Amino acid sequence: MMNDLENLPSPSAKLQALLAVCTRAVVFTGAGISTESGIPDFRSPGGLWTKNAPIEFQDFMASEEMRREAWKRKFAMEAEFNNAKPNAGHLAVANLVQRGIVSAVITQNIDNLHQDSGIPAEKVIELHGNGTYATCLSCGERHELDVIKQSFLGRDELPDCRKCGGIVKTATISFGQSMPLEPMERAEEETLACDLFIAIGSSLVVYPAASFPIVAKKNGAKLVILNREETPLDDYADLIVNEEIGPTLSKVVQLN
Ligand code: NAD
Repeated sequence: MMNDLENLPSPSAKLQALLAVCTRAVVFTGAGISTESGIPDFRSPGGLWTKNAPIEFQDFMASEEMRREAWKRKFAMEAEFNNAKPNAGHLAVANLVQRGIVSAVITQNIDNLHQDSGIPAEKVIELHGNGTYATCLSCGERHELDVIKQSFLGRDELPDCRKCGGIVKTATISFGQSMPLEPMERAEEETLACDLFIAIGSSLVVYPAASFPIVAKKNGAKLVILNREETPLDDYADLIVNEEIGPTLSKVVQLN
């Protein structure tokens, strides 16, 4: 098979060939799949990282000033995030899910764009939570951002839980915060059940998320990495595609 791959003319044809022979594929995505929707990633030039160092969970918990800063940033970025629509990359992944080739999408993204692209919510495993709503850190009660925005921007009030008075935070996993148990378990199950694992648009440096491609490979799956630039896991990969995500995946889906 690998020799056959070498004879194929383009990376997209190679990925198409791997998809054609696999029995169960899993897609793993990072911020890079959403840049074509206008959401900056973390580590590219001009990415979010270069503008603001992330607020660590412990700092958010320890200081009201940090919580204020976190909410200020959240609402400042809203314009960019709220208008974002799924792009060709998201739609191609949705197509592969719809055709039963991809069993689940494990994502590090918090932007809800996989669900917006038509993938049923139960097939999207969010490792780092979701930034389109908030939850109470004590009791888990869901809080809507519109309501928080009104009191924060209008009356300068930090949100606390209407049910238990706990601290409310966007439903995302910050650096230093424990990983969510159920999504981690489901991601592991899916990773171990697949024979093709496709990592798309991730620098693959954020752990534990970046361990899934390694687990898949060690369990015998073929590993594909589709990313504009190289990653520390390239040596594990059976196929590396250093191209733009949307155009490449559109070609792959058409070819299939
Ligand atoms: P990252 O920023 O570390 O890496 C993104 C990678 O995608 C980079 O290597 C970049 O070269 C590549 N890339 C960007 N646009 C591309 C394109 N159009 N085609 C091909 N490659 C492209 O992202 P990460 O690995 O996901 O880690 C960042 C963390 O930040 C994640 O944990 C995630 O939760 C969070 N985050 C999420 C969003 C989002 O939800 N959209 C945005 C920024 C950060």
